[in-house]
Amino acid sequence: MLRYDEPHELVLLRETLRRFVDAEMPRSEAARWDAEGIFPQDVYRKLAALGVMGLTIPEEFGGAGRDIPATMAVIEELSKRSLAVAVPYIATACYGGMNVVKCGTEQQKREYLPKLAAGQLMFAFGVTEPDVGGDVASVKTTARRDGGEIVVNGAKRFITGANIADYIYTVVRSDPSAPRYKNLSIVLIPRETRGVRIERIKSLGMRGGASTTDITFDDVRIPESHILGGDAGWNNGWSLIAGPGLDVERLEVAAMALGIAEAAVADATEYAATRRQFGKAIGDFQVIQHALAEARTDLHASRLVLYHAATLAQRNEPCSAESSMAKLFVTERAHKTVLACQSILGAYGCVEGFDMERYVRDILIFPIVGGSSSIQRNNIAKYFQRNRVAARG
Ligand SMILES: Cc1cc2nc3c(=O)[nH]c(=O)nc-3n(C[C@H](O)[C@H](O)[C@H](O)COP(=O)(O)OP(=O)(O)OC[C@H]3O[C@@H](n4cnc5c(N)ncnc54)[C@H](O)[C@@H]3O)c2cc1C
Repeated sequence: MLRYDEPHELVLLRETLRRFVDAEMPRSEAARWDAEGIFPQDVYRKLAALGVMGLTIPEEFGGAGRDIPATMAVIEELSKRSLAVAVPYIATACYGGMNVVKCGTEQQKREYLPKLAAGQLMFAFGVTEPDVGGDVASVKTTARRDGGEIVVNGAKRFITGANIADYIYTVVRSDPSAPRYKNLSIVLIPRETRGVRIERIKSLGMRGGASTTDITFDDVRIPESHILGGDAGWNNGWSLIAGPGLDVERLEVAAMALGIAEAAVADATEYAATRRQFGKAIGDFQVIQHALAEARTDLHASRLVLYHAATLAQRNEPCSAESSMAKLFVTERAHKTVLACQSILGAYGCVEGFDMERYVRDILIFPIVGGSSSIQRNNIAKYFQRNRVAARG
């Protein structure tokens, strides 16, 4: 890896994770988890024992202290080998830890955070619906209060990991007559509640056990204590979703994409050195050298843009433009990089049994999930329209 000013603690954390990945997540297992749709629970438990689930959670709640660059480094290192572990990590540390820290009441923090920090709870992030993608504020799943309970009806689509999560963090329309942005709430729905039905969707990539799912809510009743942010959170969900929450979600997606692209470049480099055609290693052809040079330049730039945005988020500084830029740049470049690496492997990049085939399937998803590239471009454009003077600088 090229040198850049990464804090020493992050360097040590990466070394720990690389040892963990080598010991607990061999390539053959990563391929099996993908092929058979397995969530490797034992690996997840051992990962939790390293204390990394608590990297989004303050020490007073049993965490290791909120550290967004470190959280991104964990996601990146795990994604180099397997999304079957990286995605459940995000479900606990980010969908759970980060959101409850930011939006939960004191009581909710005491109830959920210690378990999240210990890796005993997982949340699925329930925003998208059959008719609602990028236009998040238009969700149609309804919630109404009824005798001290909340009643939820509707459907969510593409919700990753709901099949193994304990709670579905669910964005609902809680006041049908209130204006846009004033009519949403977030409720935490236990997966096992009566009226919740979850079906796996077979997707192109991200095929580990935390697969993406369809969820239907049919008169699902949960206690009012499950409104995220308590009474103050009712009809105030938009302010909890937009802003820092979505900023960090974009970075999580970028960190996964970066990890996969790094793995693809490493495999392509190794292949180029050993595959011989026309009497020499294919890595001696300039066209292959240039493809790898470009890929490494994109990886380096991606690291800078991602960890710069993560550092701003860590300092609680506004970073909506920077996080959108990171998501756009890293996922688009990673997509291009992985396809370039696939072509270096030639036919071997297209067949099962080579990890490249999985990297390709996984990377195709990242410019779409977590807000498509077009939505990120819209965010960036809006930011510069609002800040014209700054943009001139
Ligand atoms: C494997 C997988 C896992 C996922 N996991 C989750 C999850 O855990 N939780 C969750 O809530 N969602 C999840 N999603 C959903 C994902 O976040 C959405 O797919 C994404 O936000 C885009 O929504 P959409 O696909 O409905 O596209 P749409 O919003 O319908 O967009 C379709 C096309 O139109 C373009 N478009 C839409 N609006 C605009 C606009 N204003 N300007 C310009 N272009 C526009 C888009 O860029 C895209 O090209 C997952 C999806 C997949 C495939």
